Amino acid sequence: MTNLTAPPASGGTAALIDGRAASLALRDGIAAEVARLLDATGIVPGLAVVLVGEDPASDVYVRNKGRQAREVGMTSFEHRLPDSTSQADLLALVARLNADPAVHGILVQMPLPAQISAEAVIAAIAPEKDVDGFHIHNAGRLATGQPALVPCTPQGCLILLRDRLGPLDGMHAVIVGRSNIVGKPLAQLLLAANCTVSVAHSRTRDLPALCRQADILIAAVGRPEMILGDWVKPGATVIDVGINRVEREGRTRLVGDVDFAGAATRAAAITPVPGGVGPMTIACLLANTLAACRAQTGQPPTLPLPGDHP
Ligand code: NDP
Repeated sequence: MTNLTAPPASGGTAALIDGRAASLALRDGIAAEVARLLDATGIVPGLAVVLVGEDPASDVYVRNKGRQAREVGMTSFEHRLPDSTSQADLLALVARLNADPAVHGILVQMPLPAQISAEAVIAAIAPEKDVDGFHIHNAGRLATGQPALVPCTPQGCLILLRDRLGPLDGMHAVIVGRSNIVGKPLAQLLLAANCTVSVAHSRTRDLPALCRQADILIAAVGRPEMILGDWVKPGATVIDVGINRVEREGRTRLVGDVDFAGAATRAAAITPVPGGVGPMTIACLLANTLAACRAQTGQPPTLPLPGDHP
């Protein structure tokens, strides 16, 4: 039996940060903007999602992204290529999508098979259609404080934090994990939001002591329940980005990188897994696609991008 969808009840004193509700609110706003854009201009934002191979988790992500794009009124283009696809063939598809005026956002689902360089594929995506925000052009713009397409998961974390805490000025945010898709861009967003930011990784000394200093503690590690309850400063806000499948009592369960039960006894608020950051990621992908479409078709921006927050 599997139990992959039920969020845990907090059980401790912490408030639950409900990513499902926040993502629904964001998607409703996007759907309304997409409808207004269609009425005013006849333009429909288009999102192309490319999947190479048959990884089951990637297949679920790609189907969800396509379905949710259609639900907010966008056009979804799904491209499924065999595991044996060459890098040249994938780059040729990316070039066609770059040139297609009906496609405003391009997402190539990671991971890619070994014969394809993810770096080369990301570099080939037109920066203005890079709705994952992984292109060096967007990474550089984010790092230098210029408007950019921002990676979706960090964007989702920032929205949840702002919803919960309001202005983040002066707070100490500790991010555990320094990947290009989560830790580093989130550090840039939180710096821009006037946090004092520490980024920890596998070589960090005395990680528990660093975590105990965090007003905002973010775990993006990929190790089930590694962050223990007594690493959490009483009253802190905990954002758990981790998604780990574990076998427990004969069931496959999703758990985060934080020991939820332990952390919930000390934190003021915490995201559950599932139902926390995960749903925000796709909603932010849709927000990026709408923003990319408006920019490419000469429309002024509507929804603020996280980089634009005061
Ligand atoms: P990566 O594997 O790319 O990065 C993991 C980071 O964790 C690295 O910086 C690594 O350090 C650090 N790390 C590993 N072990 C330790 C340790 N023992 N102590 C301290 N730091 C450690 O992972 P991602 O950033 O891609 O993903 C992280 C998690 O977030 C995963 O569970 C993933 O499934 C989830 N995720 C969830 C998303 C969502 O939508 N909710 C989206 C993307 C990811 P070092 O650099 O030194 O190796």
